[in-house]
Amino acid sequence: MGFQHVKMPDSGDKIRIEDGQLVVSDEPVLGFIEGDGIGADITPACMKVWNAAVEKAYGGKRRVHWAELYLGEKAAGIYDGDYFPQETLDAIKELNVAIKGPLTTPVGEGFRSLNVSLRQTLDLYACVRPVKWYEGVPSPLKKPHEVDAVIFRENTEDVYCGLEYESGTPENEKLAKFLREEMGAEFFEGAGIGIKPISAYGSKRLVRKAIQYAIDNNRKSVTLVHKGNIMKFTEGAFRKWGYELAAEEFGDVTITEDELWEKHDGKQPEGKIVIKDRIADIMFQLMLLRPADFDVLATMNLNGDYLSDSLAAEVGGMGIAPGANMADNVAVFEATHGTAPKYAGQDKVNPSSLLFSGCMMFDYIGWPEVTKLIEDAFEAVVGNKIVTYDFARQIDNATEVKTSGFADALVDAINKS
Ligand code: NAP
Repeated sequence: MGFQHVKMPDSGDKIRIEDGQLVVSDEPVLGFIEGDGIGADITPACMKVWNAAVEKAYGGKRRVHWAELYLGEKAAGIYDGDYFPQETLDAIKELNVAIKGPLTTPVGEGFRSLNVSLRQTLDLYACVRPVKWYEGVPSPLKKPHEVDAVIFRENTEDVYCGLEYESGTPENEKLAKFLREEMGAEFFEGAGIGIKPISAYGSKRLVRKAIQYAIDNNRKSVTLVHKGNIMKFTEGAFRKWGYELAAEEFGDVTITEDELWEKHDGKQPEGKIVIKDRIADIMFQLMLLRPADFDVLATMNLNGDYLSDSLAAEVGGMGIAPGANMADNVAVFEATHGTAPKYAGQDKVNPSSLLFSGCMMFDYIGWPEVTKLIEDAFEAVVGNKIVTYDFARQIDNATEVKTSGFADALVDAINKS
């Protein structure tokens, strides 16, 4: 495909999908979007670390060819005010794998979040957020090493899909009248109304991805998180469809928690993943008190939104939490924090969220050696209390470095390893 502003690298191979599997050469082309605000600080810093780790891991036998794509303010500058250029979407679809920095949502009536638009346009239905503690990272927990979970959050349904009707509008009044008169609903006069659709299709494809991830990564359990005790036909249905999917498609490798106790006396049989469920509110308590009991979590949109940030706080906060948004073929890895405008251009913030999102990307394309080098270097550098400002304010006697200084320390540690 010809592009107007995107310049594909002269060499390297696009990642293809064949029979549902990624086909990755030793010189793949990966897309990157710098991001707004602190994006210009963290993206070049991470790029240095990723390239150094790839070079160290494979001694020149493997190499990434980066293709810069544009979204947000940088795109608006290049595409005549267009924050969301079609050719960026086309390029992501062509490359299948990309990574992005944070994007500003310009404040203004009717301006849709670019992140939400990206997820919806590319149907990136699964938001994947691993939460894991690294040695040396400040945490409010007594045993942060027990936290090692991966949240699969549904991205396209639930209250986030934008079916809302403002109080006082004709649409609201029409819907309120219908609900009261034809459905027997009772609620206060003039209430704003939001609709929460949860489908079997949306729930099952999300749970399928979570279970497949658990199988591929030797995880022990998948927990369906829901509020089905109150919202039976949405949240409760998510739970029901999740169990159905597990039985229908993964019956040979999964057992339910009930079966675990009834047939196996609570001892997990070799090769089986336990499918269990928990009510959303208790889940927050359990992830604080007994995080070791949980592994992969599958959630609807809103529960997953709260839970992801809450769990990130247990292991160091938003400056370090990585993430990805995935469809069946396309995957876009991303820093989970925003553009932190007050720090933009100061070379100050923590690049680790984007850095570890890159690690997720390298795992995804089958280059786990890169992740291992980066994780080891990270623990060595943070263990030496060389950290950016956000960790420095939580660690006694820390040496505070800039974003670029932190990246340089990681590259040094990688090269010395
Ligand atoms: P934010 O940019 O995430 O920043 C909130 C605070 O989080 C910062 O002030 C800072 O805390 C901390 N923080 C964020 N990134 C950090 C990093 N890399 N290292 C260390 N600390 C970090 O949230 P916001 O201010 O609410 O949103 C700003 C803009 O970002 C908005 O336009 C919003 O729409 C957008 N946004 C984009 C994304 C995305 O692209 N995925 C996500 C969220 C928000 P301290 O001040 O305490 O140091």
